[in-house]
Amino acid sequence: PVRVRFAPSPTGPLHMGGVRTALYNYLLAKKSGGSFILRIEDTDQTRFVPGAQEYIIDALNWCGIIPDEGPGIGGEYGPYIQSERKPMYRQYAEELIQKEMAYYAFDTAEELENMREQAKKMGMPNWQYNCVTRTNMKNSLTLPADEVQKRLENGDPYVIRMKMPRNEDIRFEDQIRGWVVVNTNNLDDKVLFKSDGMPTYHLANIVDDHTMEITHVIRGEEWLPSAPLHMYMYQAFGWEAPKFAHLPLLLKPDGNGKLSKRDGDRLGFPVFPTNWETAEGEVYTGYREQGYFSGAFVNMLAFLGWNPGTNQEIFSMEELINAFSIERVGKAGAKFDPDKTKWFQQQYLRNTDNSKLAEILKKEADLSSYSDDYLAHVCELMKERATFVKDIYTEGAYFFEKPHSYDEKTVSKKWKEGTTELMQEWNTRMASLPGFTEETIEVAFKAFLEEKEMGIGAVLPNFRVLITGKGMGPSMFSICSLLGKEECLSRMEEGIS
Ligand code: GLU
Repeated sequence: PVRVRFAPSPTGPLHMGGVRTALYNYLLAKKSGGSFILRIEDTDQTRFVPGAQEYIIDALNWCGIIPDEGPGIGGEYGPYIQSERKPMYRQYAEELIQKEMAYYAFDTAEELENMREQAKKMGMPNWQYNCVTRTNMKNSLTLPADEVQKRLENGDPYVIRMKMPRNEDIRFEDQIRGWVVVNTNNLDDKVLFKSDGMPTYHLANIVDDHTMEITHVIRGEEWLPSAPLHMYMYQAFGWEAPKFAHLPLLLKPDGNGKLSKRDGDRLGFPVFPTNWETAEGEVYTGYREQGYFSGAFVNMLAFLGWNPGTNQEIFSMEELINAFSIERVGKAGAKFDPDKTKWFQQQYLRNTDNSKLAEILKKEADLSSYSDDYLAHVCELMKERATFVKDIYTEGAYFFEKPHSYDEKTVSKKWKEGTTELMQEWNTRMASLPGFTEETIEVAFKAFLEEKEMGIGAVLPNFRVLITGKGMGPSMFSICSLLGKEECLSRMEEGIS
């Protein structure tokens, strides 16, 4: 069975690139009846940010990307937080030492710095601890065995490093990128284990993927450079490696560079699923708080790097699960498009039942004195013109209160000599109507125009501005019948005087 994981480090909020990684993992798992696992990778204690783990779980929940196993959920492969798995990693590092595929290194920070400086002077600015340079360093490959033993017993600080071989090709087939070949001469001896008893990301990640029986590793492109090392580690342990798929970068709207968390505020769109408040009290806005439906957000994200190969653009989670495949994920960076994001939201709003919208409306704004039926009618009239639920009660404030002001453009362009009398007359006509439905108002209005030999463009805007204060909006006949006769007459009178 397919087992995939999303393995964020709690170093801050989850940006939408991270959510997309989670989503693709989730879709693949659900499509194949497999499991989606959430694992928190918190071995780097210096980068730990309080609240980040809670944020990640809350954000995934909002998106409907629900793990089958993970912190707070449980599962047979737990614990799912790496710091709680701490005792199990050392044995794996030691196993590699026994196999002579890893070694102890005692170099101090100062010694490493000196080495780097020396190399720089010799015209080599990118010094690496690798198969060549390790012969000059203090490690168990260069020190006599008894000295190594003594240092360990002394409690001298050490790290355990991977011993990368000289001039060997590491190759693997990435599910998105095809064959990747890297020569070990280009790789350094990465630290696997630190003297504080903590594994590094590389060791913990491989050990956990293996012990949690992960079948596919789907993650961002920024991890591609680590993949050869990871492949090599699987070989070193003698474990079968999972399949790898590295997702394309998310690019800024103009295609120039990676989408960063700063872009959101600078360019006026959220990059986080939900609000994130920093320790300093700075708030980054999220999609949820901006009024996006989670379905619209997820639908938009799904298309950042994947497409179904058909014209269909609106997908429920169910439909995404059925349609998704890694084969249809592209290699090229995916440009984030704020306008398209809004478009998805509009589509979702339009496809939501009026009664459901009314329910949300009632929760968001203080509209409990209105009947569900009235609110549903307002939603029906406004939803074609709205992007967010809040637009319905801000743009359509006139459904709940008299206009406070009148659209200046309409008044200056359309309110002419004689308009006051004309509107008074139309008001009297409305007052005399026996019924006050969309149809009766419309019939009366048309008869009125004919009688006056006037075009709709000369009369309707003035009628609208008196009732709503606006220059545009849904059908006046619908608005008036919903507001009711009395309300309309009084607004007309007030406006005319
Ligand atoms: N902890 C890594 C991260 O923060 C996980 C990378 C991976 O999926 O291997 O993205």
